[in-house]
Amino acid sequence: MIVKKRTKPLKLMKLEVLNGRIVQNHSKIHLIGSDFAKYQAGFKGEMSLDFYLKDLNEDEYHIFHDLRLPQSSNEQFYFQIDTLIVHSQFCILIEVKNLIGNLYFDHQFDQMIRTRDGVDETFSDPINQVELQKAQFAKWLKLNKFPEIPLHSLVAITNPKSYIRISPKYGKKSQKIIRGNTLVNKINGYVSSEQESVLLKKDLKRLTKYLIREDTPQNPDILRNYSIQREEIVTGVFCPKCKKPPMIRLKRTWLCLNCSGKSSNAHEKALQDYAL
Ligand SMILES: [Zn+2]
Repeated sequence: MIVKKRTKPLKLMKLEVLNGRIVQNHSKIHLIGSDFAKYQAGFKGEMSLDFYLKDLNEDEYHIFHDLRLPQSSNEQFYFQIDTLIVHSQFCILIEVKNLIGNLYFDHQFDQMIRTRDGVDETFSDPINQVELQKAQFAKWLKLNKFPEIPLHSLVAITNPKSYIRISPKYGKKSQKIIRGNTLVNKINGYVSSEQESVLLKKDLKRLTKYLIREDTPQNPDILRNYSIQREEIVTGVFCPKCKKPPMIRLKRTWLCLNCSGKSSNAHEKALQDYAL
């Protein structure tokens, strides 16, 4: 059962608007464009994970997407979990990676190298990332007086075209890296017929309540993050057909000065953009 659905993150919505409305000659236009593309690919990867998770038994598993919880040591800081799966015997934290190209998990330097079109790009090791989240989640559970429950962590590679290589020195840790299509088997494999339930119905109810209550979606000040001034944003109503400004208001309609397209409600999108 999906308890918390995945929705388009505010940060992605804001990046999308900024990408569409930044003045054309701006020095940061490429940075914003590539950040937007990365976030969008990440979100698509997370969405594609949902496709595999639908095979899990609805009654046994409770799924929470995209959680951002306060760190127990410092409530001003948060930790994020792409997907949390709660079962009466255990919880699983899943970090989702949706990267095109060849991926190499490099044990020696705690990094992941992505090679695409002959270009190498390094990322922090996603196993370390999810292990850190696991430690933070364990503290959070303890702080909120939940029973001690086994925690598992996985890194799901959702792009079926990515070629994965893992350093031989990774050892057992490499079992945490899996593809979307083997996810459900892996999860079901954690269920033990001998083990008793750790989370009783009342615990599960309270855990759900706490997770939803403490979840704090990220709402970044995007203009400040990129040091963009208000004057560097193109204002006004954009054409829904050619995606360009400006549109002018005629009687009960908007007219595009580029493509002569007309729209009755193009201002609605402009108002949403303004709010973001
Ligand atoms: Zn137009």
